[in-house]
Amino acid sequence: MDAEDPRIDTQLVHAGEPRPRIEGAVVMPVFQSSTYEYGGQGRYDDVRYLRLNNSPNHVALHDKLAAIEGAQAALVASSGMAAISTTLLSLLRPGDHLLAQRTLYGGTHDLVTELLARLGVAHTFIDAEDPSGWAAALRPSTRAVYVEALTNPLLQVADLGAVARFAREHGLVSLVDATFATPVLLRPIALGFDLVLHSATKYLNGHSDIVAGAIAGSAARIDEIRHTLNLLGGSLDAHACGLLHRGLKTLGVRVRQQCATALAVATRLAEHPAVARVCYPGLPSHPGHARARELLHGGFGAMLSFELHGGVEAAQRFTAALRLPVDAPSLGGPESLVTRPALTSHAGLDPELRRRLGIADGLVRMSVGLEDPRDLIDDLEQALR
Ligand code: PLP
Repeated sequence: MDAEDPRIDTQLVHAGEPRPRIEGAVVMPVFQSSTYEYGGQGRYDDVRYLRLNNSPNHVALHDKLAAIEGAQAALVASSGMAAISTTLLSLLRPGDHLLAQRTLYGGTHDLVTELLARLGVAHTFIDAEDPSGWAAALRPSTRAVYVEALTNPLLQVADLGAVARFAREHGLVSLVDATFATPVLLRPIALGFDLVLHSATKYLNGHSDIVAGAIAGSAARIDEIRHTLNLLGGSLDAHACGLLHRGLKTLGVRVRQQCATALAVATRLAEHPAVARVCYPGLPSHPGHARARELLHGGFGAMLSFELHGGVEAAQRFTAALRLPVDAPSLGGPESLVTRPALTSHAGLDPELRRRLGIADGLVRMSVGLEDPRDLIDDLEQALR
């Protein structure tokens, strides 16, 4: 793991803030206006209107996100899925072929296998941890490669450097969903990715109170995606922009604290006799540990998953006995959450496919929050008892 980049915390606070300050306001005010006085703009996308993603709140947020991703430009959307679907719809045409990581987030998996397939976009799933099979999956029509930085829920670590290089060599657009890693731990643009996507619902906002998405990349690509977003209409409301903007300022301290707690929790779980298996890239026993050390700066993320001896029944009793973590899907907020992916994020997958992917019905996924790690570990231990 390299030394942590000290600049991101400063960028999170100061990048994109309007200068001069609006009426001297230290905090970016929320412009709750759907429309703006016409200023002679010639292009549809430049007319100032909330759906066209160009309110002062959008502009400030886009600049801040671009700065923290080290990208030329960024764009927010009304959810992570709006960001992902709009980006892929902007990029892919009927007849195109997509290489996608096999263990995608359930919504993205369904988007690729159902909606994009219906629109004539073919796909091949690849093992993003092992480059040896990628070239054989290429077709003349292959246009893009799509992976996730840390997969949900098994926390596999894709060979991200190899994905970006492979894409360059073969003229493909490379995309990575870096929701679980956050820009605090991972800068995909510096690794050579063309586009980085986030469910900003999670760590970027960090307070479990909005849904939002984000995309960062070159100015030309973001301009194209913004045009598609303007047509599809998945724009983030100004008030939600204000909340996301506020949440971003504390991203660094939140994520580093959550990572430290997650490592302590994962270590304790791995030692516990009631626990059969822990998936956390910060544990030396995790198959992606060495790669995670190379790729991630300042921590291994705050998501982990585990199986108990006793399977589904034990998982149900354990979850019901917890006092602090809430049994709820989603992640990245101050309150720890637990969920069983077989019932929530991966409920849409065929049970046989889930099993083949290694997602047991009794697997418990945990989003580690900002509680005191001692209280969290005490609670987990009493529930395990
Ligand atoms: N990507 C990942 C890795 C996710 O975990 C999720 C949601 O859980 C999404 C995308 C979709 O985000 P949203 O719920 O904001 O649409």
